[in-house]
Amino acid sequence: PTVFVSGATGFIAQHVVKGLLETKKYKVVGSVRNSEKATLMKAGFENNPDLSFVIVRDLAQIDAFDESFKQLGSEIKYVFHTASPVIFDITDFEKDLIVPATNGTKGIFQAAVKYAPNVKKFILTSSFSAVCSIAEENDSSLTLIEKSWNSQPLEEAMGNSVDAYGYSKTAAEKAAWDLHKKLDPKFSLTVINPAYVFGPQCFDSSVKEKLNASCQNINEIVHSNLGDPVKAQVKGSFIHISDLAKAQVSCIENHKLNGQRLILAKDRFSLQNVVDIINAKYPSLEGKITKGEPESAKQAIEGLAKVDNHVTKELLGFPLKTLTEAVQDTVDQILRVEAAQ
Ligand code: NDP
Repeated sequence: PTVFVSGATGFIAQHVVKGLLETKKYKVVGSVRNSEKATLMKAGFENNPDLSFVIVRDLAQIDAFDESFKQLGSEIKYVFHTASPVIFDITDFEKDLIVPATNGTKGIFQAAVKYAPNVKKFILTSSFSAVCSIAEENDSSLTLIEKSWNSQPLEEAMGNSVDAYGYSKTAAEKAAWDLHKKLDPKFSLTVINPAYVFGPQCFDSSVKEKLNASCQNINEIVHSNLGDPVKAQVKGSFIHISDLAKAQVSCIENHKLNGQRLILAKDRFSLQNVVDIINAKYPSLEGKITKGEPESAKQAIEGLAKVDNHVTKELLGFPLKTLTEAVQDTVDQILRVEAAQ
C-alpha cells in the first residue's frame, strides 16, 4: 500500500517517513515544493526504492494536490497531511499563513475524496495551538482537554504572527472536520495536535545555522552568551519528535485512533527549564551560555492552564519521553555536527 505524506521534507514529516519506511510495509510518496531538498532526503534514506516524490509547489492553490492524486489515484491508501507554514517573521499573515494552511488542508482532503477511492485513513497534523490560544494557554483557571478549541477570533489573531499561526492551524483543522462531516468519505480522519516538538533532525545534514521553528528555540540557547535574556513567552507543553512520529505511524494500525483528536504533549515546560538542562548536562557549555533566571521556571509553569490529555496517552499506550531526553537529543546532534565542521 502507498502512503502519501505532504510536506515530506519538513522536520516532522521526515521522521514520519522514516517510521513508515522502517516498517517495510509501505511505499511512501512525499510531496515537496523543492526538488533539491527531496534529492537530499532521498540520499539520506540511501535511495530507498520505497520512497518517491511528487512536486506540489504552493499549498495556497486549492487544486495544488489534484494532479498528483489523479496520477496516483487508487494506489493511495493512507494520507498524512503535515505541510503547513510554520513561519513567524512575516507581515502578511493571511497570505503567508492562513490561506496556505486552510487551502492546503481543504485541497488535499478534496483531492483524496475525488481521485483516490481506496484511501482508508487521513491523518492531519494540526497543532496544540488549535487547542488553545496563547491567552487561553496562559489562563491558569483552564484545563485543556482533547475537546478544547482555540477560540480566538480572527480580528484578534491578526495582531501578531504567533496568534495568526494559531488561527491558521485552528481554521485548517476545523475545515478538515467539517469536510469529513459534509463529504462523508469512506476514510476515517485522525487529527494529531502536537505541542512544541523537540528532538534531533532526521538527518545531520538538516542541522543548519537555523533549525525549524520549534527546535530553533533550543539552538538559540546553545548559541547564546552568558547573560542573554531567555524568551519568557516560550513555554507550554512539549513532545519528543520520536514519540510524535511513532504516534503518527501507529494511526495506520491502531484503529482505536480513527476519528480521534490527539493531544501530543508530555508535560508543561518553560524555556528556562531547557536552559537549566543544558547547563547541567553540558559542562563544556556551562559558563559560556546563558543561565537565565533558574528560579523563574516554576512560576512560569504555574501560570499556565492545566493540560489533561490522559485520553490520548491511554489511546497511544506507550510512555512519552521526558524534556531532558528531548533537549539532550537535540543538543547532542547540534554539537556533533558543529564539531565535525
Ligand atoms: P517545517 O517548517 O519543518 O515543515 C513545514 C512543511 O510544510 C515543510 O515541508 C514545508 O516545505 C511545507 N510548507 C510550508 N509552507 C508551505 C507552502 N506555502 N507551500 C507548500 N509547502 C509548504 O515544520 P514542522 O515539521 O515542525 O511542521 C510540520 C507540521 O507540524 C505543520 O503542519 C505544523 O503546523 C505542525 N506542528 C509543528 C509543531 C512543532 O513544534 N514543530 C507543533 C505543532 C504542530 P519546505 O520543506 O519546502 O519548507
